[in-house]
Amino acid sequence: MYDLVIRRAHLVDDTLIDIAIQDGRIAALGEVAGAGRQEVDLKGEHYVSAGWIDSHVHCYPKSPIYHDEPDSVGIATGVTTVVDAGSTGADDVDTFYQITRSATTDVYALLNISRVGLIAQNELADMSHIDGDAVREAVKRYPDFIVGLKARMSSSVVGENGITPLQRAKAIQKENGDLPLMVHIGNNPPNLDEIADLLTSGDIITHCYNGKPNRILTPSGELRASVSRAIQRGVRLDVGHGSASLSFAVARQAIAMGILPHTISSDIYCKNRINGPVYSLAAVMSKFLAVGLSLPQVIDCVTCHAAQGLRLDDKGSLEIGKAADLTIFELRRQPTVMLDAENDALQADEQLVALAAVRAGKWFTTEQGKAEHVFDL
Ligand SMILES: [Zn+2]
Repeated sequence: MYDLVIRRAHLVDDTLIDIAIQDGRIAALGEVAGAGRQEVDLKGEHYVSAGWIDSHVHCYPKSPIYHDEPDSVGIATGVTTVVDAGSTGADDVDTFYQITRSATTDVYALLNISRVGLIAQNELADMSHIDGDAVREAVKRYPDFIVGLKARMSSSVVGENGITPLQRAKAIQKENGDLPLMVHIGNNPPNLDEIADLLTSGDIITHCYNGKPNRILTPSGELRASVSRAIQRGVRLDVGHGSASLSFAVARQAIAMGILPHTISSDIYCKNRINGPVYSLAAVMSKFLAVGLSLPQVIDCVTCHAAQGLRLDDKGSLEIGKAADLTIFELRRQPTVMLDAENDALQADEQLVALAAVRAGKWFTTEQGKAEHVFDL
């Protein structure tokens, strides 16, 4: 007997399947004959995908500026895995790791190359905070928790240091087994061309569709040559919506030119979760449906692409033997006006609504699912 069987789940390719779960892993897929101790019949009415992965969040509760609780940005909204993007550096990662052990959401960290992390806005303004030995020791202590590195390369963060922190980040990356490096882009200096030219295959540009002058599109609306070359080399694009880093106009124009995001992420923390414009990963995904991506494209950005980009090999697809992390959701016809980080509005006809999640084989109804009494579990 299986622990849990989910029946007649609707996949985004419009097939219906049963999913059987045993010991926290996917045990059978397709038409499942055996019974489960717990069974949920979705009657083809609800979608299921591999558990959603948010590649860029801030959920170190002790950060004085960008803080939240892992489960508030994770399982409560149907997101089974979150990757904290640089809230902590080597100094605080031990405390952060301990806090995340009691979360239901699976939490990973991109370690800030600045040992102080996000205790202030300008963690890379003092080069003495970039301590390669401290990074190496932290990665050694938490090889299964630290999945990459984070460098925030905008003028307010680096102060007078220009491109130098990124040169250090690339050297530190080499010393640590070529971990994925996520680079935040924003206002210059440093100029985006200088940043893009330093990035190599597997590196991630977050805030890829920001609307600031130092963005990926030139004033005449073409893709910067440096960014085009970076993408050719295998550099990945991550949305990282956040409070200041998504422009519908830039996203729409880039996507129309075939510059698609590899991953859709929220850059969520308590303020932009509660007051907007982020609200939740589902809300950010809905914006990308409205901008012109298909439902399968949007789901790939928070499942297989996210798992691939951050080397979470156990996650991101519905396959026998993989972690039993699932998200159960609906696509509702619900006309809504949505805002980007530039306060520009977009009329959307459909909204993604996460109703429940399965995390390591256990069922959790989301806040929304509970409020609507969709499942009696
Ligand atoms: Zn961020």
